[in-house]
Amino acid sequence: MELLRPSSLAELDSASDKLLLAGGTEVVPLLRDGILRADVLVDVRGIVPRGINGNRIGAGTTLAELEAAPQIPEALRDACRLAASPQLRNMGSLGGNLLQSTRCWYWRLQYPCRLHGGDRCHAREGEHREHAIFANDFCASAHPSDVAAALLALGATLHTSRRELPLAELYRLPDEVDRELVTLEPGEVILELELPAVEASTYLKAMDRKRWAFPQVGVAAARVGGEVRLALAGGAPIPWLLSRPTALDAATPLPRTAWKVDVARALVRRALDRI
Ligand SMILES: Cc1cc2nc3c(=O)[nH]c(=O)nc-3n(C[C@H](O)[C@H](O)[C@H](O)COP(=O)(O)OP(=O)(O)OC[C@H]3O[C@@H](n4cnc5c(N)ncnc54)[C@H](O)[C@@H]3O)c2cc1C
Ligand code: SF4
Repeated sequence: MELLRPSSLAELDSASDKLLLAGGTEVVPLLRDGILRADVLVDVRGIVPRGINGNRIGAGTTLAELEAAPQIPEALRDACRLAASPQLRNMGSLGGNLLQSTRCWYWRLQYPCRLHGGDRCHAREGEHREHAIFANDFCASAHPSDVAAALLALGATLHTSRRELPLAELYRLPDEVDRELVTLEPGEVILELELPAVEASTYLKAMDRKRWAFPQVGVAAARVGGEVRLALAGGAPIPWLLSRPTALDAATPLPRTAWKVDVARALVRRALDRI
């Protein structure tokens, strides 16, 4: 396997058929397990900005750097602090976190499920205690990123090597025609995130251990000008915006995910109290 380390975006543009990598905390295990395959890896750390500049955050900034940054909104700081383990946060980048793959055990074990191009959702029919409570018809996976939920509630804008888009538009629900969960094109690189000012924000997370666990349910809340934005991690195949607290009444849990709706309600209540 070849490893390229481009030093300019121009070099990278010719890399559309290659696998990008930053901290490698997601890419390396997926390569090891044969879920991803690549002849050429492109380490993007030489070209993706790292660090915080006013309201812009380089996508190469690590979660460890963000959890210790007093100038960013609390929701983002807390989401980074509560994610993964210290070692993973030291290596894992913001951009890589937004693009991490599902933790659905059937997908990780390479069952030929819909996200792998097959015609069944093994989780819907099988074990799905950790799965989604919204938009779980086609694929019931639950998006694992704490950070993405926080950025969604905060109303972040993404700057890529090709365009500018609201974070919400980075994600899409998979369907029969297109099984992708993200809208990035091959070779497109996330460069920076831009955050609008918010008055208050928070991120609360329920996990099955106190440390180093993915969100069973994560709730991010941000307040601007009397309006509140709420987003869920672990609630749908993609980070999920709740139009209002009562939007949880419209959840469509599977037989063994109804408990998540109760947890989400409790976290939403606490998050609203906090902000
Ligand atoms: C055991 C474990 C526990 C974890 N727990 C949590 C958790 O509780 N909460 C949570 O939110 N996350 C959790 N994570 C996810 C972790 O935060 C991510 O793996 C990490 O942030 C990914 O960053 P990276 O730089 O290592 O990405 P990489 O592995 O390098 O890349 C991940 C993906 O992003 C792409 N990519 C990377 N950077 C860019 C870029 N700038 N532009 C375009 N594409 C890019 C790669 O091609 C790849 O598809 C956990 C991970 C592990 C392994
Ligand atoms: S939830 Fe999604 S990833 Fe998991 S088995 Fe079903 S289709 Fe596959």
